Amino acid sequence: MSARVLVVDDIAANVRLLEAKLLIEYYDVITANDGPTALALVAERSPDIVLLDVMMPGMDGFDVCRRIKADPATAHVPVVMVTALSEVSDRVQGLEAGADDFLTQPVNDIALFARIKSLVRLKRATDEWRARETTMLRFAEAGDDRIDVNAPGRIVLAQDENRWSGRILETLAKHGHELIHVSSSTAALAEARKSDPHLVLVDDRVGGEDALRLCSQIRSNEETRHIPILLMIDQGNDRTLVTALELGVNDYLPKPVDRDELVARSRTQVRRKRFEDGLRAKFQQSVAAAVTDSLTGLYNRRYLDAHFEAMSSRLAQAGKMLSLVALDIDHFKVINDTHGHAAGDEVLKTLAERILANLRGLDSAVRHGGEEFVILMPDSPLASASAAAERLRVAVAAEPIKIGAPAGAVSVTVSIGVASATAGMVSLEDLISRADAALYEAKRSGRNCVMRGIENEPDEAPRPIAATR
Ligand code: GH3
Ligand code: MG
Ligand code: MG
Repeated sequence: MSARVLVVDDIAANVRLLEAKLLIEYYDVITANDGPTALALVAERSPDIVLLDVMMPGMDGFDVCRRIKADPATAHVPVVMVTALSEVSDRVQGLEAGADDFLTQPVNDIALFARIKSLVRLKRATDEWRARETTMLRFAEAGDDRIDVNAPGRIVLAQDENRWSGRILETLAKHGHELIHVSSSTAALAEARKSDPHLVLVDDRVGGEDALRLCSQIRSNEETRHIPILLMIDQGNDRTLVTALELGVNDYLPKPVDRDELVARSRTQVRRKRFEDGLRAKFQQSVAAAVTDSLTGLYNRRYLDAHFEAMSSRLAQAGKMLSLVALDIDHFKVINDTHGHAAGDEVLKTLAERILANLRGLDSAVRHGGEEFVILMPDSPLASASAAAERLRVAVAAEPIKIGAPAGAVSVTVSIGVASATAGMVSLEDLISRADAALYEAKRSGRNCVMRGIENEPDEAPRPIAATR
């Protein structure tokens, strides 16, 4: 996996050293010697990761990091602080500035490449969601649902019960997190599945078992693969660490665990999970919004187009029938003219509710035009579709629809046309135009009645339409 790495350091020799190491591994390297240049390059060259020296004259590394993270356009770019000191206070300050990780000078190669790989992999996943979000936002309603990434999270701690675990629970609880303590791998996996936590904090020796197996199970399990893992590991255990990072462990804490680092790294992971959950939810909402009519909550035409193909070919394999019901409000113009457009809207909404209340779960109700609806009924021959349509027609007419206007309620009737065919033998346009023809006949007869379309085989000329009451 190649990636573009931005190396920032005021000391030219440091830049050259890191650059050389990265070039050997075929990374694409860009460099900056000061903060302002770094910020410009982050904006212009979209690096996949930034390796950032802490101590620089003028704008220091913390400052640069804060600015990268404060700008929504660049906040997702991972930042690794490179520090000459292994001072914990330095690391905590960096995490507070939003840094994703640290490397201590002189840079250990294993750590360097492990961190780059893991962070770039994560960024790729996030980029994917961001791209989808951008696409989907064009369809979505203006969203005021900002993701609150800073709220505390639900954390599963997988660690034997000992004085360390007590301290960890206490420390994290103090920061508002909800904690679930388990002391075996099996229990941890079960809990991760059950409570969809924002983070699993794993001790590398939980229950005397192989903690890496647990990490790998969390990663490979469909329900848990998006949950961040923070591994607590003995210092200097580089081999295990590299394996863990390759397995997809998001971050690690050297043991004995420093309190501040625990808090800061947990918070970073919880934030990441909240961000990704938020994007995923937004994506699902936008998908839903894209196929939903906003006034009635029924499906829209776009849904009908997409859904018909899939449904039709599935039914075709089983040689089943499908029916389409076209429904149109009678004299809707009069309702609008007499009571106003708002009253008309209320009628549409209530009608949609009545349609839904009278449908089977398999049927899809679609608002097809202003006051025209279409209902797709899979696995329904003409007789049963017509019976369902007639039931619906009677249900609509049975009770006047309440409107806010002075009139209080209006009587609404609908006309309905039905067309059926063997699945796979008919296109959506064809089915709609046949149902529409039946509907038009219903209107013309002036009796608000159900008209039947014909069970058509392909290439067969439409037969005359017969009316039923
Ligand atoms: P018919 O019995 O032949 O169906 O007559 P109609 O009055 O229903 O006639 P037509 O289908 O031509 O008119 C549809 C009307 O529906 C025209 C338009 O003003 C109204 N309409 C379309 N969309 C909406 C909407 O979203 N809200 C409201 N209130 N009215 C709408
Ligand atoms: Mg009408
Ligand atoms: Mg109409």
